[in-house]
Amino acid sequence: MRCKKCDQPAVIRMHQHRLALCKEHFVEWVLNRVADTIRSFRMFSPKKKILVAVSGGKDSLVLWDILLKLGYKADGLHLNLGIGEYSERSLDYVLKFADSHPEADLIIVDIKERYGMSVPELAEAKKHGRGRKICSLCGLVKRHEMNRVANERGYDVVATGHNLDDEAATLLGNLLNWKIEYLAHQSPVLPSTYPGLVRKVRPLVRLYERETAAYALVEGIEYIREECPHALGAKSLLYKEILNRLEDEMPGAKQRFYMDFLKARREGLIKLQPPPAQQLHPCEVCGQPTSAPGKCAFCRLWEPGSSSGS
Ligand code: AMP
Ligand code: ZN
Ligand code: ZN
Repeated sequence: MRCKKCDQPAVIRMHQHRLALCKEHFVEWVLNRVADTIRSFRMFSPKKKILVAVSGGKDSLVLWDILLKLGYKADGLHLNLGIGEYSERSLDYVLKFADSHPEADLIIVDIKERYGMSVPELAEAKKHGRGRKICSLCGLVKRHEMNRVANERGYDVVATGHNLDDEAATLLGNLLNWKIEYLAHQSPVLPSTYPGLVRKVRPLVRLYERETAAYALVEGIEYIREECPHALGAKSLLYKEILNRLEDEMPGAKQRFYMDFLKARREGLIKLQPPPAQQLHPCEVCGQPTSAPGKCAFCRLWEPGSSSGS
């Protein structure tokens, strides 16, 4: 198998794009594809300050690497959630990457140190320890902290490592359950709709997971390979498996499924009517925008005695 551009031995064959590339041309292709995604979805301009949320997994470290190679001012934010050995090892990989990229800053927030409880401890205290509940609570903590840090440190935009497989799996879940509100809003760009609500972007949405993994491999980016122990058995993993089966039989299926959904919605071919947006106001404790009366869901989490926070 030879590179389509230079005839050297190829390191990857991408059936979905009818393309095989050598290492050098694959890296160039990935950089161009992400640059083009940033441009075509108007994610951010070259002068913006970007905060990359890095988990220690491949996608977010690959994203950080790509943004730095493209010349953006991109710093990292890692949230130490206190999920045992999994969080310790995740942090090690983030530190390792940051050490070898002195041009970028890394901000680390230790949730237990800052708020007194790790995410599993918080879940236990809220009787959220069973089933999938800890994941929604963890999501709430992550969203709040990403927004808080970006605001406090003057970042224009928060970038996360969601790839095409993540987005297609989310879309499948939203369709299966007819989550109209989520279908209306699922997007590579979430604009700031209220002061203090930071813009969020997903620059890897046009890269397959297989492609981000290959990029990590050829660029020597080390990352944590295991899933969060709480995510095992999550529906999103089942949806990914199903989509992979479809992709095997029909190369490009995942990309068509997700990108054509965005296109059809943009062109008004799919009309979704979400419930009217709720009025936002600043949380009386932390000041972040919330639709909940008084305090936001995150601040209510840490109140002694409250049994439900989300
Ligand atoms: P997940 O929801 O775990 O699939 O992660 C989606 C994205 O959220 C990742 O690609 C990261 O950009 C970000 N993220 C997840 N966990 C963390 C973390 N502990 N610290 C910082 N960012 C994270
Ligand atoms: Zn080549
Ligand atoms: Zn609050």
